[in-house]
Amino acid sequence: MATTQNKDYYATLGVKKTATSDEIRKAFRKAARRYHPDVNPGDKKAEEKFKEISEANDILSDEKKRKVYDQLGFYSDQIDPAQAEAYARQQSAGGGGGRSQVDFDGFDFSGFGGPGHPAAQQGGAGWGGSFKDIFSGIFSGAQQGQQPRGPQAGTDLEYQATVDFWTAIRGGQARIQINRQETCPTCHGQAHTGGAMQCPECNGTGQVTQMGGRMKFNIPCPRCNGTGRTSNECGTCHGEGTINKSETVEFRIKAGTRDGQRIRLQGKGNAGLNGGAAGDLFLIVRTGTHPVFTRVGDDIQLTVPVTVPEASLGAKVDVPTIDGRAQLKIPPGTQSGQKLRMRERGVENAQRPEQRGDQIVTIEVAVPHLQDERSREIMRELAKLNNQDPRVALFEKGRE
Ligand SMILES: [Zn+2]
Ligand SMILES: [Zn+2]
Repeated sequence: MATTQNKDYYATLGVKKTATSDEIRKAFRKAARRYHPDVNPGDKKAEEKFKEISEANDILSDEKKRKVYDQLGFYSDQIDPAQAEAYARQQSAGGGGGRSQVDFDGFDFSGFGGPGHPAAQQGGAGWGGSFKDIFSGIFSGAQQGQQPRGPQAGTDLEYQATVDFWTAIRGGQARIQINRQETCPTCHGQAHTGGAMQCPECNGTGQVTQMGGRMKFNIPCPRCNGTGRTSNECGTCHGEGTINKSETVEFRIKAGTRDGQRIRLQGKGNAGLNGGAAGDLFLIVRTGTHPVFTRVGDDIQLTVPVTVPEASLGAKVDVPTIDGRAQLKIPPGTQSGQKLRMRERGVENAQRPEQRGDQIVTIEVAVPHLQDERSREIMRELAKLNNQDPRVALFEKGRE
């Protein structure tokens, strides 16, 4: 039968054996701040260390437990403090000489307590458990992965999905490459394969011996929780129950989908464990741009050049819209920079399809480069006939 190692809790916390409860508390707080899993996400060493210091603190900060520990060199909930007391008294009285009248050798304490304690909360995101929870795990002998865990829901995923300008406007199919945790195909998320095998820690006996001085205690094996059997870890997922997989996900885009819109794909997040539901995949839509049209919400913005005669005399001109050519009426005397609204020539609203945005046209007057003398003559004549000064207002306002 294997023997578990006795632990030096004082060394773990870095305090003297004579430390006061105040010194122990301070030493633990200092170490806990350093090794807490929230501060060291994914760091297995820090997690182990944190369990060790938590265990040490649980024993040393409890007067009764500390006493038992000091007397025996280890602590277990299954040990009666009175027995420990008797043992300690007997040790000091016996002076260490040979076998004395009371002998605890081989005393079987395994009947106290026993298996079936709740397992410590496990799982990456589930570290919210209190120190006490972690302990009840350690002391009940439950170990990560050895006891069947309950169903655990998969986590959600969030990705940005760039969608083509036209697909966002007209709707359609789009695809995105994502990485997600999928249920392991070998063990189907069970994290272990095949039947149970003999526990290597206790060689199948379900018990290990812990030494307290010359006294031996049989306690339930912490590895197999006293059952003597442990299951084979799955080689494909290394006991995780899930594997990482790159996947192309297809999704539907509604007509009028806007930039920044969230799309939820139920069950496309990370796989759950032990039959737990998969998480969801959230896509943040990023709509593509277009060389001519600029989309602002459901409106389309566009700059349209017009000639001086068109702007001056008024005209009907063809302009592009997202549905093809459409006629735009330029009123006489339209200025450069003026905005003209083409009602309901914009994008269909994703929530209310009967509603459409507008197309907003910014007029840009194209000034002609006059090539011949006749044209220049006409322009000079035009200037004579229309000799208003467009800068008058500047000077008037400049005086204010
Ligand atoms: Zn597996
Ligand atoms: Zn075992």
